[in-house]
Amino acid sequence: MGEYYQLKCRECGKLWGNEARSFCDECLSPLEISYDMEAARGKFTRKNIEAGPTNLWRYSGLLPLPEGFQGTLPTGFTPLVKAPHLGKRLGASNLYIKNDAVCFPTLSFKDRVVAVALAAARRFGFKVVSCSSTGNLANAVAAQAAREGFDAWIFVPADLEPAKITGTQVFGAHLVRIAGNYDQVNRLCSQISEKFHWGFVNVNLRPYYAEGSKTVGYEIAEQLGWRLPDNVVVPMAGGSLISKIRKSFSELIALGLVEEKKVKIFGAQATGCSPISDSVKRNLDHFEPQKPATIARSLAIGNPADGYYASCVIRDSGGWAEDASDPELVKGIQLLAETEGIFTETAGGVTTWVTKKLIEQGHIGPHETTVVCITGNGLKTIDAVSQEYTLSPAIEPRLAVFESFINDRVVAIAGN
Ligand SMILES: *Cc1c(COP(=O)(O)O)cnc(C)c1O
Ligand SMILES: [Zn+2]
Repeated sequence: MGEYYQLKCRECGKLWGNEARSFCDECLSPLEISYDMEAARGKFTRKNIEAGPTNLWRYSGLLPLPEGFQGTLPTGFTPLVKAPHLGKRLGASNLYIKNDAVCFPTLSFKDRVVAVALAAARRFGFKVVSCSSTGNLANAVAAQAAREGFDAWIFVPADLEPAKITGTQVFGAHLVRIAGNYDQVNRLCSQISEKFHWGFVNVNLRPYYAEGSKTVGYEIAEQLGWRLPDNVVVPMAGGSLISKIRKSFSELIALGLVEEKKVKIFGAQATGCSPISDSVKRNLDHFEPQKPATIARSLAIGNPADGYYASCVIRDSGGWAEDASDPELVKGIQLLAETEGIFTETAGGVTTWVTKKLIEQGHIGPHETTVVCITGNGLKTIDAVSQEYTLSPAIEPRLAVFESFINDRVVAIAGN
């Protein structure tokens, strides 16, 4: 085969080479990419990484990319910013935001997974790429397919936010709205993928797609000065991102790029769709699928593909999981915006509010280094917060009118 990575069954360990497949035929368990770590040792060094481009392709040495692959889109390497004002409000002195609300090109962390999945789609000869999506993946596949010259077919629940619908159609993708929830859309896509020779980024290309999530973890470590944080708080939908952040930390330790350290991994879900956090909180050895009922649509997966592994990762790391209700996640969006000037979507409201709960509960210590993963942009879910604000009447463009307007305001505020 000559390649230093290939598909491996997570349970029976059978090796499958490289092909568009996500399950082991022998035991029906999911597949994951496994690397020859000795070969990686020469490629994946601090020096090579730092000499690379300032985007996720700097980590190509540990991504499942075709030989000689050159990524052209500058996806990833989003800011890791200190969050002192939010930290003060929550009682945490060493808080950071990993801000994928500004990921290129479609403003969510899904741009990372799609970048890696489309490289695999090209290599396996697909002309059409596809996905089942709760919104952000739809945007990312549509945009990058346009750029890379694939035809795109996107399947979504019909009740998606308007910005995520238009933000898919604008790229010329075929959008198929399904009268059902995400889990039903996903089941349909599995069936289609058996009949059509299409590259479904999160179905038959899922192992390749999932590796793209590791770059969030690599970046956190590099941006902290090649050091691991004490805690990370990660939103969970299918449970892939959280598992891959942990994989990225293990790889960095195994290759000696960072000092060994036990990072506590915390998961965040919306209360109206919380199969994984529920399983952790009740200490179950499985999770119970749920019917989603939350405005955090990007996290609304009731039967998460990697839910079992996500709860194992959380438990093994010594972390915990929590959830936030719809009114709480709205407050979370406002809190992050008002303290740090970052406007996140519903998923980020969940993550921010869950961080607050975890600090209050003592799961996260006040002086530990904690990274909160903000994964999507607030402009895509405007309706979640717009009703929280009223518009003042339009005033005439005259100074005197403004002076009386501001006087009324000052009187009103003083009178309160
Ligand atoms: C998809 C998504 C996630 C979580 O992804 P999984 O890997 O499926 O757990 C988190 N945040 C946002 C905004 C997303 O779109
Ligand atoms: Zn197997």
